[in-house]
Amino acid sequence: MKLRLPSLHEGINALEETLDPGEIGLDTDVFVSPVAVKGTADDEDTLVDVRLEIRTTGHYTCDRCAAEFDRPFDVTSRIEILRRDPEDSDEEEAEGLVFVGSNGTEADLSQEIVEAILLDLPLQMLCRDDCKGLCPFCYTDWNEGTCEHFAEYGPGADAADNDSQE
Ligand SMILES: [Zn+2]
Ligand SMILES: [Zn+2]
Repeated sequence: MKLRLPSLHEGINALEETLDPGEIGLDTDVFVSPVAVKGTADDEDTLVDVRLEIRTTGHYTCDRCAAEFDRPFDVTSRIEILRRDPEDSDEEEAEGLVFVGSNGTEADLSQEIVEAILLDLPLQMLCRDDCKGLCPFCYTDWNEGTCEHFAEYGPGADAADNDSQE
């Protein structure tokens, strides 16, 4: 997403754009629907304060039961566009800061949008929080029913183990 700085007027500007996931660098095997971006850019002369709401959907395979599912993303991002060069600034280049130089006309926000989405990824991708998973012995889907192994190896037994390690 490229923001044309000369097109902004002083104060609050409304932003709305629909992005192609591949074009901003997201994995198109996972992100199969467009990325909807909506927000404001507050132009304060040397700095443009951008706040975005970002919505999309990722297609995943559950880490526990291997079911395929869609996970919605609804995240926010705050980006400060600085009309100066990093070397003229006390601030380091950092997440959420985009330097465009004193005569810069365009700020590319794609990287910041991708980071906001990827930050929202949990360590474990589960079809639902309480997914019981598959039996490692007979592959029964424990979300649908139990097998002879469930009592000993099911998530109840696991959870007790995991809790004591934390
Ligand atoms: Zn699952
Ligand atoms: Zn089993």
